[in-house]
Amino acid sequence: MTHDPLKTRLLEARVPRYTSFPPANRFGPEVGPDQMAQWLGATPPGAPVSLYIHVPFCRRLCWFCACRTQGARSDEPIDRYLDHLAIEIGLVRDRLPRDVATTALHLGGGTPTLLSPDRMDRLAAMVEDAFPAHPGREVSVEIDPCECDGARLDKLMEIGLTRASIGVQDFDREVQSAIGRHQSAARTARIVEGLRERGVGGINFDLLYGLPHQTEAKLADTLRQVLEMRPDRIALYGYAHVPWMARRQRLISESTLPDATERLGLSALARDALLANGYVEIGIDHYALAGDSLAQAERSGRLHRNFQGYTTDATERLIGLGPSAISRFPQGYAQNQAATGAWQDRLAGATLATARGHVMSKTDRAIAFIIERIMCEGRVDLRGGQDDPDMLERTLPLARRAIEEFPGIARLDGPVLQAGSREYWRLLASVFDTEYEDSAGRYSMAS
Ligand code: SF4
Repeated sequence: MTHDPLKTRLLEARVPRYTSFPPANRFGPEVGPDQMAQWLGATPPGAPVSLYIHVPFCRRLCWFCACRTQGARSDEPIDRYLDHLAIEIGLVRDRLPRDVATTALHLGGGTPTLLSPDRMDRLAAMVEDAFPAHPGREVSVEIDPCECDGARLDKLMEIGLTRASIGVQDFDREVQSAIGRHQSAARTARIVEGLRERGVGGINFDLLYGLPHQTEAKLADTLRQVLEMRPDRIALYGYAHVPWMARRQRLISESTLPDATERLGLSALARDALLANGYVEIGIDHYALAGDSLAQAERSGRLHRNFQGYTTDATERLIGLGPSAISRFPQGYAQNQAATGAWQDRLAGATLATARGHVMSKTDRAIAFIIERIMCEGRVDLRGGQDDPDMLERTLPLARRAIEEFPGIARLDGPVLQAGSREYWRLLASVFDTEYEDSAGRYSMAS
């Protein structure tokens, strides 16, 4: 493909992914258990809440992965984790009003499907006792096809599974060897079939480009196999090589990684293949079949962004349980102790495990609104969405600066900032995040 130096320069910029504003690496110690308890207690009676439960274990650790997880060869640490999760659920439940209902439950990790069926039962019972389900609750689970079977799928159906997210990355064997993960297309297809036979209508795949030894031919072959399975949604992420943050990535040799121009070629190839096969683009890195709820939300301006990426979940309160899990309230963010041992120690002392977070100021809320709309729709009314009459006056100069600094990536129609190509949305959002330059170098490339 043609090398465009400006495009490459822009996309090599290191910019947060803005699954929250401010990004989690800027949370500080000002939020602890007392603040978390106060925010839980301020939840209005009857308010809907979403739950995220982080299961921080995998049977094997993939080298590319930057998730908060640890290896567990036996079930003993998992039982200890469940004991402490029960304490955490009790502490949270005691601080919430009695009649909150959960509109969404997401099990992430790590590998939630390494829980045996009886342990899944135990976890489900704790959740159901403490947080009654709202009718139509969405239940989503991250599934590792290598750690899942029919018995687990049956158990997940009893919990009310509506959506499954499956990590694929790339099916090529050389690429898989270089990232320490072996997962065949046949095994993945069996899980997809098992889900569909049980009536699960929402299947997401995660794909990565920019992996070691990945070429356009290999990625095209992976896409061909993926398209045969026809997932409802596909998240297509650029592999972020950040070994200073994710130590396991040191096992990946930098010399085997595609360069910036090759990454652009891989991403364009995947995009073209997905668009040619009935998928529509969602935000900066998702694709969905036109009838999928994410595509419908995008068309009607109801798309949102949270720690799992793009979502239709508009709930203001998200409660995160488990090590490193993040809770979001209108007042701010609260993140649990990241290490499983430290999280357990806190709970063993009958204290909430909150370690850090951020209290949202009026300005933070305005910036968060602007960044979320840019990341979801590529356009934002600089006056809108907030109870802040001065917002336009403060944000218009930033929009003008963005247009001056990166000509062609956006234009202003009165108070509406309209972004150009999706690949620049992260950069445009970063201009409103006046602090990001101070911490540049800690984020992944924008492509
Ligand atoms: S990719 Fe999944 S299975 Fe592999 S280490 Fe990360 S969370 Fe665990």
